[in-house]
Amino acid sequence: MATIAEITAHLDQLLRPDAFPDHVNAFNGVQVETAAEIRRIATAVDARERTIEGARDAGANLLIVHHGLFWRGVHPLRGPVFRRVRALIQHEIGVYSSHIPLDAHAEFGNNVLLARALGLTPNADFANFDGVDIGVAGDADVPTEQIVRAATEFSARFATTARHTPCASGRRTRRWGICSGAGADVRTLREATARGIDTMIVGEGAHWSAIDAEEAGIVLIYAGHYATETLGVRALGEHLTARFGIPSTFIDAPTGL
Ligand SMILES: [Zn+2]
Repeated sequence: MATIAEITAHLDQLLRPDAFPDHVNAFNGVQVETAAEIRRIATAVDARERTIEGARDAGANLLIVHHGLFWRGVHPLRGPVFRRVRALIQHEIGVYSSHIPLDAHAEFGNNVLLARALGLTPNADFANFDGVDIGVAGDADVPTEQIVRAATEFSARFATTARHTPCASGRRTRRWGICSGAGADVRTLREATARGIDTMIVGEGAHWSAIDAEEAGIVLIYAGHYATETLGVRALGEHLTARFGIPSTFIDAPTGL
């Protein structure tokens, strides 16, 4: 057993939240306190009703998430927002959130773990966000269709259908880049082009990103925002189990996207 303060101190040392820029509503760190000793940890991509209920049903009293409670900014405690907060307080479940620090982490990061899950070995950083690299990149010499297939199989495990821009038969990937979540934006596509990346794997992107990628000669694979961000929190839970002897459970709550 350990307290939320002990676990948080360890996570902060590991993830270094102060070293990363992030979205204004990310609030990396403890978002909800709990006075109790932590008896079980639940991990999930999103702080939402389904994962809070899943944590409660699993007997967990600390929920570690990638997307915290305040993502949409300030809003009244009504409807689903009220129910989330009520359930957390009623069941004494604390919340710890880690967004970009968890995307970027060299061991527990969503991007490095996604690369490995797709059979790719990173040898460089990628996706610079306000001075910090979040993603990973690497060299390869494999059929692009092999990466597409790996992404399709991976996403299907999380109820997601991976999609991709046109890929010519027999095309080979020589250099790839990964940026989980909403990874296809103006900056990552520009960076990919500048660095000769021919295959990019992201969670999701806007309509225009498919057009820009195709015209830049990049095959862009959309493996699902949810699916691409499941690995970091899960690995973190397993790490905390090994470190503190507290069991952890991943609460799967796919969005279908
Ligand atoms: Zn995300």
